[in-house]
Amino acid sequence: MGEKEERVMGFEGMGHNLPPAGKHEPDCLCITCGAWFHHLGIMSHRAAHRRRKERCEIEFSDGRVVDYRFDRPAPARP
Ligand SMILES: [Zn+2]
Repeated sequence: MGEKEERVMGFEGMGHNLPPAGKHEPDCLCITCGAWFHHLGIMSHRAAHRRRKERCEIEFSDGRVVDYRFDRPAPARP
């Protein structure tokens, strides 16, 4: 039995723009903007999208991709 990664998205071989090398390397990508942010900065960046009611897709440093649909009303809660 071999382990298989279900989703390999990201940096290798996908034509992504790579983060610039630097002393403080950004590690999260806003796919919507195509811009890199530090993990601390991505939350305020996400909030800016939320204020503008925009969809915001973010790829985190661990490879997770989260699609925040601020362009849609939040689902009603019971
Ligand atoms: Zn963005």
